[in-house]
Amino acid sequence: MPPFILHHPVSIAEATQIASELIESGEDFDWVAGGTDVLPNYKWRINPKPHVISLAKIPEANHVTQYEIGCMTKLSSLTEENGVHPLIAEAASKIASSLIRKSATVGGNLCLDTRCFWYNQSEDWRRSIDWCHKADCGTGADCRVIPNQNTLCVATYQGDLAPNFMALGATVTLIGPQGDRTIPLTEFYQLDGMKKNVLQPGEFMLKVTLPQDAYEYDGSYQKLRLRESWDFPEAGITAVWKKGDYSSLKIASTALESIPKIHGEQVDEFVEKWEKGSTIPLLSEAIRRSVKPVNNTALPPNYRRSVVRVLAKRALKNIGCE
Ligand SMILES: Cc1cc2nc3c(=O)[nH]c(=O)nc-3n(C[C@H](O)[C@H](O)[C@H](O)COP(=O)(O)OP(=O)(O)OC[C@H]3O[C@@H](n4cnc5c(N)ncnc54)[C@H](O)[C@@H]3O)c2cc1C
Ligand code: SF4
Repeated sequence: MPPFILHHPVSIAEATQIASELIESGEDFDWVAGGTDVLPNYKWRINPKPHVISLAKIPEANHVTQYEIGCMTKLSSLTEENGVHPLIAEAASKIASSLIRKSATVGGNLCLDTRCFWYNQSEDWRRSIDWCHKADCGTGADCRVIPNQNTLCVATYQGDLAPNFMALGATVTLIGPQGDRTIPLTEFYQLDGMKKNVLQPGEFMLKVTLPQDAYEYDGSYQKLRLRESWDFPEAGITAVWKKGDYSSLKIASTALESIPKIHGEQVDEFVEKWEKGSTIPLLSEAIRRSVKPVNNTALPPNYRRSVVRVLAKRALKNIGCE
């Protein structure tokens, strides 16, 4: 592990003050929550930083109610027994392994770095292919997935919680040196494998909030992964609705692009002319056509795309659509 200085603020004000001071002095840093992603990356010398600010001791970050989930909430505590929405509990139970879920947090999952098999490798491996644009070690290396351009990284967002929170209409509260702001989770992600999201320098995610009607929604999350015991999603599809009300139907996906997203256009096209028995296959096919996986995760993009249709059908049938 490359050496770094660990900061342990005990309040929001102290966290933003440390962040501001580091920015002013030109020092780079990462936020750390459970560390289950960022620290393995550091061990592989993937964009390590000289400073790391932990959010663990900030009381508001550990606060949980039925509607508000602090960013430091452990995935292992997202269970129905704790009053968590059943869809969020289901999605959390499918993330990584039980051991990882005991350290991994909601904020870390939503702010997860994008992934790519040319990038999530050891330093020696990456040196052997002469690096890549996202971690170029100062060489100006090219992107390995879409070569001959050094402007876009198409690394894949492979977090499981995001499509589920999005489908339930969640908002996120972001705190930074310029103050705080609350935005819909659907507006949080940015179609750029390096920038990833709209967090500004020194800003962190404090909490995610569900709307008052979230518990009226039934949902189902379907995930494709290599090993059921712990792998990242290769594709993930969520469907939610207020039982029997087709106009409330929402579908969201993950692990198929640099961002998770809501498939509003495809759902709108079919909801008004829904025909029992025939619409589910048509809508599932429309979702398949709308996703654009690239060749940078464990399974081939064509296969992941085909499975999207199956996952969408299963999710729709699970929530009771006919
Ligand atoms: C073997 C293995 C399997 C995994 N499988 C899955 C899987 O199936 N599904 C899945 O979704 N993930 C998976 N993960 C990834 C990871 O463990 C989880 O996504 C976890 O929830 C990340 O949370 P964390 O608290 O450990 O994040 P950290 O590692 O602490 O942080 C992750 C990133 O988010 C940033 N960050 C953390 N908190 C905040 C915040 N509040 N505000 C702003 N930025 C923040 C950090 O700077 C870092 O860039 C897996 C990891 C491993 C090692
Ligand atoms: S998509 Fe390209 S730039 Fe991004 S991590 Fe992969 S190879 Fe590197």
